[in-house]
Amino acid sequence: MLRRFLSAGAPLHRRRGPVTRFFSRLLLSRQSRIALFLLTLAALANVILHAQQYSVRRPIVGLDEPFATTCREPDVTAPRENAALVMLARNGELAAAKRTVESIERHFNRWFHYPIVFLNDEAWDDEFVTAMNATVSGEARFEVIPQAEWTFPAWMDVGRARESIARQGREGILYAGMETYHHMCRFYSGKFYTLDALKQYRWYWRIEPDVDFHCSITYDPFVEMARRDKVYGYTISLPEEPATCPTLFREIADWKEQHNIPTTDLWRSMVSPSWAPWPVRSFLSWFRHRDRFGDGWSLCHYWSNFEIANLDFFRKGEYQDMFQYLDKTGKFYTERWGDAAVHSLALAMLLDAQRVHHFEDFGYRHDWFFQCPANAPGGQLPGSELLSGESSSWAPEREGGIGCRCECDGSRNVNFGRRCLNRLKKPNTTKQPPLWEAFLGWFL
Ligand code: GDP
Ligand code: MN
Repeated sequence: MLRRFLSAGAPLHRRRGPVTRFFSRLLLSRQSRIALFLLTLAALANVILHAQQYSVRRPIVGLDEPFATTCREPDVTAPRENAALVMLARNGELAAAKRTVESIERHFNRWFHYPIVFLNDEAWDDEFVTAMNATVSGEARFEVIPQAEWTFPAWMDVGRARESIARQGREGILYAGMETYHHMCRFYSGKFYTLDALKQYRWYWRIEPDVDFHCSITYDPFVEMARRDKVYGYTISLPEEPATCPTLFREIADWKEQHNIPTTDLWRSMVSPSWAPWPVRSFLSWFRHRDRFGDGWSLCHYWSNFEIANLDFFRKGEYQDMFQYLDKTGKFYTERWGDAAVHSLALAMLLDAQRVHHFEDFGYRHDWFFQCPANAPGGQLPGSELLSGESSSWAPEREGGIGCRCECDGSRNVNFGRRCLNRLKKPNTTKQPPLWEAFLGWFL
């Protein structure tokens, strides 16, 4: 076949139709056919070598195991970490906020009594304060975010920013027509970490109104994070809405390049390398979600409505430098960058993979996304007095389950088809996803 391609003679055009004749005239000589063949071969090699640079090798030993695979007797006397649960909410979200607090108290905080810091951009209603004080088992603090932290950057032309927000609204970009939503995303991307109200803490656990925890959390996740030198923990990962952040990846990739940050495995796991050969590849950089070299971002990120993380990582150094750089672009307003994507790309750029933890033993739901492990066989401590009471009934145990008294049975997860989860966990875990999932992951 190959020989036929290289050596077939010019008489081709006498036997074939006009289109074939046109091309056979183009491929005039045998030499040019050889040149074309070699060029194709070089392009193919270039693409394969390039993709290879972004391939992530699975570790031989797991680098991020679950902190617990059965229930434990909660150690209520052990020293706590310097940590707080944090919820940003509006007065009008009282009912949904209360449900979240009830859920986390029932499944975790009734043993550990961490303080909950409530943040609002407006003064808190007495009703909210009273209801929450009656729900928490530790201290409740009600803080108002200083105005300067919940607004446009000082240098920005507010009129033009508002025009841009209105345009994004008309274009139907998710939440992008709401000014407050932009403030919220900018706040959570950077200003949150430098709040005076959080200065005293080293760790935070972010919660939101309308969240359910489905399993008992019988150990102290802050203590485990500290003990294992983790920086960031998440439950769900999913792809970002593309229209909200056309240039976010490019800006962060540019910052990475300017600061000579070496490429980590986590960064590789976020990138979808281009399938075009050089130099075509570099022209792809004109498209959205691509870096200067034409490689793309998979849009995968950690969903930030659940986060357990080390404040020190975010409140100084490289993270804050990067946030200032992003803020100066004004694109928290002229686009609608979400804090989840900002956090995730920054973490991927700056951290070794083993410093990010997947809380796969937590049952968690927000909106219509949830993950829920099956219950661990023989691991439910049915006789435990501490665990009894509000979580004394649980779904059946299952082989391979790691959950503690989960109310759901682990048969279904909506962790976005696991596509993003498989990708982002690859640098950390020895577990192979099913073949078809891995196959799809290559292309999506
Ligand atoms: P989504 O999770 O991206 O759909 O966004 P949400 O509407 O859930 O907002 C994320 C978090 O920010 C939630 O905790 C909200 O309560 C909070 N939030 C959003 N907008 C505002 C606001 O204007 N004021 C206050 N105080 N909280 C807000
Ligand atoms: Mn939400």
